[in-house]
Amino acid sequence: ELVYINGEIIPMADARIGVEDRGYQFADGVYEVFRLYNGRPFTFKEHLDRLERSAAGIKLALPTPRTELEAGLLKLVDRSGVREGMIYLQATRGVAPRNHVFPESPSGTVVAYCRPLPPIPNPGEGEGAKLMAVPDERWKRCWIKSIALLANVLAKNEAVSQGYDEAVFVENGVVTECSASNVFAIINGKIVTHPVGSKVLPGITREVLFQCAAELKIEVDERTLMESEAVRAQELFITSTTREISWVARWNEKYIGQGRCGPLTAKLHRAIQQRVRQETNG
Ligand code: PLP
Repeated sequence: ELVYINGEIIPMADARIGVEDRGYQFADGVYEVFRLYNGRPFTFKEHLDRLERSAAGIKLALPTPRTELEAGLLKLVDRSGVREGMIYLQATRGVAPRNHVFPESPSGTVVAYCRPLPPIPNPGEGEGAKLMAVPDERWKRCWIKSIALLANVLAKNEAVSQGYDEAVFVENGVVTECSASNVFAIINGKIVTHPVGSKVLPGITREVLFQCAAELKIEVDERTLMESEAVRAQELFITSTTREISWVARWNEKYIGQGRCGPLTAKLHRAIQQRVRQETNG
């Protein structure tokens, strides 16, 4: 298994990160997850753009210029031999004597590696996801893809320990997103989802979904989505880089829709897969 570390590609077992790396001590860093199809990163540019926005959001200057990072990641993918999978990348402010104050000239640490992923169920197939509503105890800069994920980790574990698949954050009756995915309701034929910003990560899959929706002439309504509406929605689904779209079968004890994947969810999923094929085939 190989790892990209500060511009070099070496066996993962040989990689070393300093004990005083600020990522380790303060979660002072950001990350990205890229999806590989056919050995090619999907929406590579969009993910790199978001990485730059996240880094700027924590005043982190990425230690590697973008073109160099891009080339390094493609080389990593190539040498890893992973065709259907993901790249995990994280960038931290690097090693410095422990101090809350930023070091004057941060070294920066960039680490990335590839992992294969199992195939995704065909649109409309597979088991629906079971969501458990939990209070949103995260910070107010959820647009930054920060490596500080403890609130997400605790929420997801709470959900999984009770037999659910994903935790959905609800605050004062408002549905924001899930622990590792965006959430959408189909209400009166429209896609309804909370706007991105302080409480919602600008998902890349969310963006692709919106483009597909525009082509299919399905309206998107970015507004406050109440839990009371979500549980009564015709269809509910979640999106992320690793799952594409999953239809939602249950919200707490309540079954959603007809207990199977809704027609618009399946249609949107087919459209996303078409986009994937266009971008990563041949
Ligand atoms: N929201 C959160 C909190 C996430 O961690 C993720 C990442 O998987 C998403 C949404 C979905 O974003 P993307 O579609 O870019 O993977």
